[in-house]
Amino acid sequence: MSKRIFNFSAGPAVLPEPVLRKAQEAIWDADGSGIGIMEHSHRGKVFDRVRDEAEQACRDLAAIPDDYRVLFLQGGASLQFSMVPMNLLPAEGTADYLLTGVWAQKAVKEAKILGAKVHIAASGESTNFDRIPGAAEIGYSERPAYVHLTTNNTIYGTQWRSEPSVPAGVPLVADTSSDMYSRPIDVPRYGLIYAGAQKNLGPSGVVLVIIRHDLVEAGPKTLPTMLQYRTHAAEQSLYNTPPTFGVYVMGEVFKWIQAQGGLAAMAEHNESKARLLYDFIDQSDFFRGTAQPGSRSFMNVCFRAPTEELENKFVSEATRRGLDGLKGHRNAGGMRASIYNACPREAVETLVEFMKEFERANRAAARA
Ligand SMILES: *Cc1c(COP(=O)(O)O)cnc(C)c1O
Repeated sequence: MSKRIFNFSAGPAVLPEPVLRKAQEAIWDADGSGIGIMEHSHRGKVFDRVRDEAEQACRDLAAIPDDYRVLFLQGGASLQFSMVPMNLLPAEGTADYLLTGVWAQKAVKEAKILGAKVHIAASGESTNFDRIPGAAEIGYSERPAYVHLTTNNTIYGTQWRSEPSVPAGVPLVADTSSDMYSRPIDVPRYGLIYAGAQKNLGPSGVVLVIIRHDLVEAGPKTLPTMLQYRTHAAEQSLYNTPPTFGVYVMGEVFKWIQAQGGLAAMAEHNESKARLLYDFIDQSDFFRGTAQPGSRSFMNVCFRAPTEELENKFVSEATRRGLDGLKGHRNAGGMRASIYNACPREAVETLVEFMKEFERANRAAARA
């Protein structure tokens, strides 16, 4: 078996090794059925069990109440940018968005395409999205149909530490694509939670949606069938062929998180990995973090070196050392280490060692 390297990619991203091993076997033969997991009918017993177990593990992890539906959809988190306003925003209504980065901007763009009224309740754009707005900076509209936030800003490396308060009775809708199940999540505080799987939960091609049952029925029946939440809720995500392999892997990732001790243990593990990296960056006079300390993400750590030239050198030397995927997003520049659930502590320790070495070797060049 060939050797694996440390993968800091923002997404698709690292998956837990035991899950990959198990999936390898299941691709060949699922559950001793003589048929691989990707070859099973989505209407058969084997997949039924896979889907049920995935939903159950998902529910158990966050103690999801019975009045919430768990859906496995397609179209990426990006289709949710459209499905949310299509289903939850009446023609005369207004939706409030907390603008904390590129993904939030894209969500706003889709709501506007539908002709919806969008109110920006807070924006970090003037400081290049380097922080999460404080409570005093948030101003909601009169009666928003919902408030939308992005819990973790994958590109700028900022993360909400807790949910903002919203006006009474207004559903909070969250794009949790890059930090879902990286820490406990208080589901009853939300009306709808969605996450593309490919950062923390599984392979690309499947989106997890957790939606309160009254919101399932909020969408107009004039929408295309596939774009109504009720279609998928009524059919246990089996209205059409679901992304069966993605659902399988996601279920195995949920079980793996359970085996790690659940969401609280995951949070502890993630925070301690992130601290290792931020502590090093903070004492360094060579590297600097780009997100404001109080807004820092425990998932995506963004940092800069003194010059772009040194940043390019850093990324290419790191790659040669088996530390892959560290180039920052083009909107943010610099470097980004994505250290999701499945990223082992050893990867972060190795990265910090490399950063120390790089700093020592290039300090003179930085001063020149
Ligand atoms: C990656 C990402 C998306 C886009 O997800 P797709 O599944 O590619 O559509 C949306 N929101 C956030 C926060 C992301 O990190």
